Parts: sequence; structure tokens; C-alpha cells
Amino acid sequence: MDEFSLIRHYFSRLTPAAADVALGIGDDCALLNVAPGHQLAVTTDTLVGGRHFPLQTKAGDVGWKSLAVNLSDLAAMGAQARWVTLALTLPDADQEWLQAFSSGFHALLQASQVALVGGDTTRGPLSITVTAMGVVPVGKAVRRSGARVGDLVCVTGTLGDAALALRLLDAPDLPPSLRERLDRPQPRLAAGLALREFAHAAIDLSDGLAGDLPHVLEASGVGAVVEAQLLPQSYEFARHASTGERLQLQAQGGDDYELCVCLPPDCLELAQSRLEVPLTVIGRIVDAPGLRFVDANGANIPLESHGYRHFQ
Ligand code: ADP
Ligand code: MG
Repeated sequence: MDEFSLIRHYFSRLTPAAADVALGIGDDCALLNVAPGHQLAVTTDTLVGGRHFPLQTKAGDVGWKSLAVNLSDLAAMGAQARWVTLALTLPDADQEWLQAFSSGFHALLQASQVALVGGDTTRGPLSITVTAMGVVPVGKAVRRSGARVGDLVCVTGTLGDAALALRLLDAPDLPPSLRERLDRPQPRLAAGLALREFAHAAIDLSDGLAGDLPHVLEASGVGAVVEAQLLPQSYEFARHASTGERLQLQAQGGDDYELCVCLPPDCLELAQSRLEVPLTVIGRIVDAPGLRFVDANGANIPLESHGYRHFQ
């Protein structure tokens, strides 16, 4: 199968007819219609086999996740996800792998009503680069730089599930719900759209709270105090994580793909009522720079506060 029949067979059908796709896969460029009064939000992320996902990960999950991590960035900005391109580098044209990969990719495209409008296909070590594009009314995007002293720090969903799944990967009793959180993260697109009405600042959690929240704090010129025991846990997480490892998994584990937002306190209830996922207060924005984790008595809990860094 050559490059062109591969693209036709696995990817061309993933462009649905949509009013805002004037031209999809097949020409030198796609042509996309951005509605007047809107800005284009663009993000790109690469997943390298063996680095961002274990090489034994099912192809369908790789397809899903390579899209999910990008849509999560759009969600954090409060953008409505519309289009993606896919640059695929494959060691060989393994039909079974491609079928499963494109199915996983397609499943999330459909669930989030996003169109694949182009890409590139090359041979080499397994690597997947997705560029995701969304639209947001001018001036409505939620940036990292808007947090203010007194804001509540909140997160969607639960933290630590994917990190626990990764640690228990080869355990025979790894609960499927934890595995699902690692392999098929749900980008919080609807929550991102709802929260843009209220949030002063937001970021999606890919490298763990302790790695990601400091980006918001630095961009906003503020600090935060987070109470460790407020970090939301899933039922399976609480059952399977030992007390000693909980904070480490929840704050430094990574791969959560939840949103972390800074909200004025008087917006909390209304914001919560507009979301389909739980929104939990975990701390507050303060004047003193840096991120502090504290226990219920306000005593510091020391933590190495950086996420995964590729060139360190
Ligand atoms: P060019 O040489 O002009 O870059 P390509 O041969 O790379 O064109 O691609 C042909 C068409 O197929 C283009 O519209 C491109 O966007 C699309 N395409 C290539 N690879 C993929 C892919 N993996 N997924 C979706 N579309 C793809
Ligand atoms: Mg090309």
C-alpha cells in the first residue's frame, strides 16, 4: 500500500461535510472558514512511541490519545474545537495497526465533532503529531496570565488516576476505569467552553498539577496555596493508591488532562452548575510567589515541583 492509497483508505473519510470546511483532505492545503468576530486557536503536540506512551499501547488508544492531548489544550483556552491535521511517521504500513489507530482517532473526532482536514504521512520511528484548531470569540480566550489574588484554584474531575494506572500497568488487578483514564483521556471541551465565562486563568494538566500550575502563577505574577487533602480522588484511586504515594501521584504524576482554573469565589456555584463534570476547589491564589502544598493545618508539605522535562 503506497502513501496515497493509505491516506485514502484510512484518513480521507474522517473529514465530514461541515459548513466550516470549504476544502478538506486532497489538495495542497485545506481551506477553513473562521466565522467573523472569532479568533483561530491553534496548538500542536507530538507523541513519540516509547516516550509518551508505552510501545505495547494498543493502536486504537494511541489514536485516541494523540488527539485527546491536543483537544485538551483547546479546552484550556475555552476554544471550541473544530479541525485537526495529523502528521504520522510510521516504521511500516501495518494494516492492522493503521485500522485500529484510525478507529481510535475517529471515535474521538466524532465524539467531539471535529474534522480531520489534512496531514502528512512518512516512514520512520513511530511518532504522531496532531495540530488542533478551534475558534473562540475575539477576547474570550482564557489565558494563563489572568489569575488574581483571592481567586479559587479549582480542578475538573479527579487527579492521579492515569499516574496510578501507569504505575500498576503490569498488575493483573489494574481496574479498567484507571486504565481507561491513562489510555483514553477525555478532553474537557464542554467544561472549557462553560468556564470561559468565569475563569480568570486556566491550564490543562498534562505534566501534573505541581508541574503545570506554576506556569499559571508565573504568567500571572502570583502564588498559590493548595491543600493536599482537597485534591479530588476517584473511587478506584482511593482504593488502590497507598496513603504514602497519593500526593505524589496526584500532584506530580501527569497525564490527567483535567482543567485547572482560577475563579473569583462568587462565581463558583454558578460555574459548578454549568458543568457536567465535578469542579473541586483545591486552593487559593495568594500574593507570595510560588506554589505551596499544605496539610489541613496549613503546614507546608515539601514537594519537588517540576513536571517532565525532555532536555534535562
Ligand atoms: P503534499 O505533498 O502536497 O504535502 P501529501 O501527499 O503529503 O501532499 O498529502 C496529500 C493530501 O493528503 C493532503 O491534503 C494532506 O493534507 C493529506 N494527508 C496526508 N497525510 C495525511 C494523514 N495522515 N491524515 C490526513 N490527511 C493526510
Ligand atoms: Mg505532505
